[in-house]
Amino acid sequence: MDLAVIVLGLVSGSFLNVCIYRIPKGQSVAFPGSACPRCGTRLKAADLIPVISFLLLKGRCRYCAAPISWRYPLVEALTALLMWLTYRVYGMTFLWAYYSFVISVLVVVSFIDIDCQEIPNGLVLALMAAGLIGSVAGVGRGFLGGLYGLLAGGGPLFIVAIVSSLMLKKEGMGGGDIKLMAAIGWCLGWRLTVVALILSIYIGGIISLLLLGFKIKSRGDYIPYGPFIAISTVISVLWGERVIDWYVSSFWG
Ligand SMILES: [Zn+2]
Repeated sequence: MDLAVIVLGLVSGSFLNVCIYRIPKGQSVAFPGSACPRCGTRLKAADLIPVISFLLLKGRCRYCAAPISWRYPLVEALTALLMWLTYRVYGMTFLWAYYSFVISVLVVVSFIDIDCQEIPNGLVLALMAAGLIGSVAGVGRGFLGGLYGLLAGGGPLFIVAIVSSLMLKKEGMGGGDIKLMAAIGWCLGWRLTVVALILSIYIGGIISLLLLGFKIKSRGDYIPYGPFIAISTVISVLWGERVIDWYVSSFWG
């Protein structure tokens, strides 16, 4: 079963690449099939085997030898890893499918935010729709739990945005981040959302300092917050309850 999950993850990751590439351009993610961006040759099945085609072709287009971004196999391998980890935690259950979907959307959100500094509303809506299905299917949080999650996720960031725009006269938190965190709250319920939100502040802070320290980014550069929200949400989905147990037993004995 592990192998089946990994293969499914690789194939899903291949589709997520299409989403990352096309959604910002407003193109259909279903049609037409993939083509090389340089020579335009329509790719065949043998060119589209996740990770393996990239390795066999040594990272170059079969037809024009244009270099293929290493991000394609990275996204495929990452998606497979995340779906497999989710499977190890939740088994072959509805929750596995549910969280795999949520995490897949977050992979797309992260890379689009890095590329375009925006979080498409369509992806936020996809999460809202998933959460609604989750409410009906019963994913360990009731309908109200989802609403509390929505407030727990979106509320604090909304307040940060208001305060920073009033005090610093600049946008400290993008609207896309607020909507994303609210939608995640709606999907996860408030407990895991609080864990994700707090983690995102720490992870965002540490990685931002590293990016500045290593001069990869300079002061005043835009550092997308979406990827930090995504990483934190994945950790919360996989190990959030353990984080809560550890925290409660450490600080409230
Ligand atoms: Zn080509």
